[in-house]
Amino acid sequence: MNDRVEHVNARFAETEIDLLLVAEPVNLRYLTGFTGSNGLAVVGPHLRRFVTDFRYLAQAEAEVPDFDRERGPQDLLDALKAPWPDGPVRLGFDDAHVSVKTHGRLRERLPDRVELVPAAGLVEKVRAIKAPGEVQRIRAASELADTVYRELAEAGLVGRTERDVAVWLEHRMRVLGAEGPSFDSIVASGPHGALPHASPRDVPIEPDTLVTLDLGARLDGYASDCTRTWATGAELPDALAEIYAVCERAQAEALAAVAPGRTGKAVDAVARDVIGAAGHGEAFGHGLGHGVGLEVHEAPRLSRAAEGELEPGHVVTVEPGIYLPGIGGVRIEDLVVVTNDGHDVLTRIPKSLTVVP
Ligand code: ZN
Ligand code: ZN
Repeated sequence: MNDRVEHVNARFAETEIDLLLVAEPVNLRYLTGFTGSNGLAVVGPHLRRFVTDFRYLAQAEAEVPDFDRERGPQDLLDALKAPWPDGPVRLGFDDAHVSVKTHGRLRERLPDRVELVPAAGLVEKVRAIKAPGEVQRIRAASELADTVYRELAEAGLVGRTERDVAVWLEHRMRVLGAEGPSFDSIVASGPHGALPHASPRDVPIEPDTLVTLDLGARLDGYASDCTRTWATGAELPDALAEIYAVCERAQAEALAAVAPGRTGKAVDAVARDVIGAAGHGEAFGHGLGHGVGLEVHEAPRLSRAAEGELEPGHVVTVEPGIYLPGIGGVRIEDLVVVTNDGHDVLTRIPKSLTVVP
């Protein structure tokens, strides 16, 4: 945890802040270790202050050993009236998560010499670079999801409803030791597969079509994320067989392009070019991928707008999709860690067209 605060401190110059207020729960957990629901921290080169209410004092003693802990009033913002270091203080706050109302309440409590400075995304940038222990946790979450995929291939799909499969997936994840799914599983068959974020329906899965399965496990706080699109029979309509082959190629080429120094935009373009050349550019309407860690969607992004470069320790998904309204869809998603000289794919489930009746 100490290293994490130091990595955050090292970025203070970017926004010219002296101290950072951390209240967003995932960032607070990352920096302090606290898993409760009411806490805040103020961090800086010579300050590690943690405030929670009486309900969490024992928990904080166990989880937040590296901070000066204090019991705050019911409204934790009241604890920020004092003390503050002498002289003018530039206090960074997370303007992406603090509402205008909370900002106003904060301002009322702070002394005039403490200036509030927008500093959204600072902790997220540090979070994006995973330490080896974090990569290990994500790998374990990914392996658990892989096991569930293998079990599903054995159990079969045809005749079960999408909702039944989704509930079964969640149950298997928990039985295998997951804290739960890292997001609501997607099970989308036939024409429904054309909706990238389809909700599972009470509709039986038909033979000879495609089923998009998107699921992730949460283990030890960390998420995984994997999509596979399986065929439910060998007699697939030509349109679906064609988009599967194109998506598989786009995914393989984009995955091969993941390396430190490449921009998210450049890797996204690799997949987009393959899909565009096959005449389906309009049918790939989302970004190529996203970071995964304590949250299933976090920095960095792989998309047309992602100017940032990939760095060793980034863990990202590579998930091109092709969606044909009224016909069906395909998406293939792997989880990959950027290494010093390239990448290491965490997902182990095969990607060649797999028939699961
Ligand atoms: Zn996914
Ligand atoms: Zn994803």
